Amino acid sequence: MTSNELLSRARAVMPGGVSSPVRAYGAVNGEPPFVTRGEGGFIVDAQGRRHVDLVCSWGPLILGHAHPAVVAAVERAVRDGMSFGATCAAEVELAERVLQRFPFADKVRFTSSGTEAVMGAVRLARGVTKRDRVVKFEGCYHGHVDSLLVKGGSGLATFGKPSSSGVPAAYTELTEVLPLDDSAAVADLFARKGDELAALIIEPMPANAGLLVQRQQFLEELRALCTKHGTLLIFDEVISGFRVAPGGMTELTAITPDLVTVGKIIGGGMPVGAFMGPAATMDHLAPEGPVYHAGTLSGNPVAMAAGIATLDALAQDGVYERLDALGARLAAGLTTALAAHDVPGSVVRMGSVLWLCLQAGDAPRAFHLIGDEGSELYGRLHPQLLNHGLWMAPSAYEVAFVSTAHDEGSIDQALAAFAAGLAETAGSAVS
Ligand code: PMP
Repeated sequence: MTSNELLSRARAVMPGGVSSPVRAYGAVNGEPPFVTRGEGGFIVDAQGRRHVDLVCSWGPLILGHAHPAVVAAVERAVRDGMSFGATCAAEVELAERVLQRFPFADKVRFTSSGTEAVMGAVRLARGVTKRDRVVKFEGCYHGHVDSLLVKGGSGLATFGKPSSSGVPAAYTELTEVLPLDDSAAVADLFARKGDELAALIIEPMPANAGLLVQRQQFLEELRALCTKHGTLLIFDEVISGFRVAPGGMTELTAITPDLVTVGKIIGGGMPVGAFMGPAATMDHLAPEGPVYHAGTLSGNPVAMAAGIATLDALAQDGVYERLDALGARLAAGLTTALAAHDVPGSVVRMGSVLWLCLQAGDAPRAFHLIGDEGSELYGRLHPQLLNHGLWMAPSAYEVAFVSTAHDEGSIDQALAAFAAGLAETAGSAVS
């Protein structure tokens, strides 16, 4: 069965041929290849082509594909049953490991996705504060939660307008959208509505619209305003948690949020999310308290086993240093290639997370500062990269991830593919 045949069958039976929209390659030229397997830092498509994988399943695979310890843990768990709908020891073991890395939190609730984790955290914040309004930032993605599917306008603070059809305007009227990196806009909103705000949610390392690294001082201002007004500060660490440091941005910034949401890495490639916080907050959740949250497959034993094995592998000495070194090597090589071909741009990096920012000038810290030229160039570059064996996300707005399964050799292979693809694309890019 060729990729083309599979693609037409997929399109006949699934909207866009996919289960999640960006996989359809709408933002880049070319057709999405079908994946047959992953091997460490590589992904193999239905044609048998082996690509250096810098997507890593959009972040979860920090150990690469089919890491032996994770596979062994999953195999062991599967033999004992795939779901119990009752509490199992693995949940406790994963909960303890998570809380060790996020010591501000006493308790954690597991979910099956990042979206559910955010949904639970926001409901909890509303239940605890007995307030309704929530603040989010333009360019931050928090899953497909109805009330958070809002991009916001260009005004300082706008009422949320849904970005998706099917989300009633009434659902997002309680969502305030602010630009990132704009202290005045945040201060202004809190001055006007601070006492109505249940929660302020932010990706402390915004990585869903490029990599919009925030100033420490900005994050500290958010903490101070939330504290002053009794608003819960939610760090959405679905990408950054266990990635930029064991305790994510919470550890790196030394800022104490009120709630943290995680996902991706915590499941080691299985569907897991979680939200956590101090006992006084978390105990508002059912069955201890009145805020409802549930899930048939939450705390699933196989997923928990994958998460435990992943966190244990990450706890070995030198892992984060190694990820950082590989990320630095990749960033340096990409930067050199851009310069060699006179392509305006830079590489934004935090540890093993990188964004190829294809526009001139300083890397942006806010969504509205991202120009269209990067998407245009990337749309033409992407198929060339694929031809040369480099698997990068099919959107200029997505970041790249390095895993512990990568090494100098595979990073250099990625760089060679990048240079070759850029050479073929750049001629028309700079004309
Ligand atoms: N929050 C953030 C910061 C994310 O990046 C994502 C997904 N990329 C989500 C929430 C939603 O997670 P999921 O796709 O597992 O529902």
